[in-house]
Amino acid sequence: KNDNSTSLYHGMELLSKFYQYLLMDQRYGGPAQQYLQSRGFESKTAQSFQIGYAVDAWETATRFLERRGFNLDEFVKIGLLSKRELNGKIFDRFRHRVIFPIHDHRGRPVAFAGRVLDDQKPKYLNSPESHLFHKGKILYGYHLARAAIKKTSEVVLFEGYVDVIKAHQAGITNVVASMGTSLTEDQASLLTRNTESIIICYDSDHAGTEAAFRAAEMLKQYGKTIKIARMPKGMDPDDYISRYGGERFKNDVLGASLTIMAFKMQYLRIGKNLNDEGEKLLYIEKVLQEVAQLTKAVERDHYLRQLSDEFSISLDALKQQQYQYYRKQK
Ligand code: ATP
Ligand code: MN
Ligand code: MN
Ligand code: MN
Repeated sequence: KNDNSTSLYHGMELLSKFYQYLLMDQRYGGPAQQYLQSRGFESKTAQSFQIGYAVDAWETATRFLERRGFNLDEFVKIGLLSKRELNGKIFDRFRHRVIFPIHDHRGRPVAFAGRVLDDQKPKYLNSPESHLFHKGKILYGYHLARAAIKKTSEVVLFEGYVDVIKAHQAGITNVVASMGTSLTEDQASLLTRNTESIIICYDSDHAGTEAAFRAAEMLKQYGKTIKIARMPKGMDPDDYISRYGGERFKNDVLGASLTIMAFKMQYLRIGKNLNDEGEKLLYIEKVLQEVAQLTKAVERDHYLRQLSDEFSISLDALKQQQYQYYRKQK
C-alpha cells in the first residue's frame, strides 16, 4: 500500500499527468482544448504549466488512483476526492473543469485549481487547505519564475493563474500570482526574497485597486522598491496582453508603474480641475497629508520639491504645512 507523503506527492504527480493526457486526447479533451485555444493559450505554455482537464464524470480520478494502489482516503483528506457521508462512496471532486496544477516552490504539484469552461459559478474550484497545501504560503508560478526573479532582481505580482501563464507566453517570466487579492505575510516574505523591486499588478477593478494598496503597505516593511502598475479600467493582465500584446504590456503597463506615493497622487487628481484655484489647493493639501505619512525624510523632500516645482509654491510653505500634518499624527 502507498500511503506515506512521498506517495501522496507521487499520486499528485501521476494525477496531474493524467489530467494533462485527458486534455490532449481529442475524445475527452476536445471542448477544453477549444476553450483554451479561444483564450489564446499556446500548447507549449499549456504544457509547461501542466494544464489539464478533468472529464465530466464521477469516478475517473478515483478509479485512476485506485487502480494504482493508492490509499484513496489520503486523497479525500487533501480534497481531491470526496466521500459521501451516507455510504462512504468515494468520487471525483474535479469534474468538467480545466485543471491548473498549483506547485510548491520545488515544483511539486500540491493542489489543483479547476476552472469551468463557461461562466458558471464558482469560476474556480480549488483544493482546500490541507497538510499538503497551504494556499497562503504559496505564490503561484514561483518555481518557474525563480531564476528570472534572481536575474532581473524584480518580480511582478498578479492576482490570477491565467495572468501568470499569459505573461510567460509573452516572454515575461519574473511573474507570480497571489491567487486572489489577499496577499498573506508568508507570501509577502517569499515575494521579497531574491529581489530588489516588486511591481504589484492587480486587476484594474475596484477590488484589485484596493488590494494593491493593501499589498503595498504590507510590502513596505521589507525595504524594497515597491511599485504599482495599472491597466485601463476593468482589465486584468491577461486581458491586456491578449488585446495589446506583451511588448505593450512591458512598456506601457510595467514600464509605467508608479511608486505608491506617485500612484496616490495620480489617484487624487482624477476628476479634479487643477486650473481651478480651489481644487488645486485642495489637491495640494491632500498630497501634503499623504507626504506627512512617509517615513523616509528623503522621500518627503522629493515629493515636496515636486509639488513646489509643479505649482510654483515655495518649498518653505509646503514644508511648514506638511509638518503640521506630520505632528498631528504623532
Ligand atoms: P479568468 O481570467 O480565468 O476569468 P481571473 O484570474 O481573471 O480568471 P479573477 O476573478 O480576477 O479571475 O480572480 C483572480 C484569482 O483569484 C484567480 O486566478 C484565482 O486564483 C482566485 N480566485 C478567483 N475566484 C476564485 C474562487 N471561486 N475560488 C478560489 N479562488 C478564486
Ligand atoms: Mn480580479
Ligand atoms: Mn482577473
Ligand atoms: Mn482574467
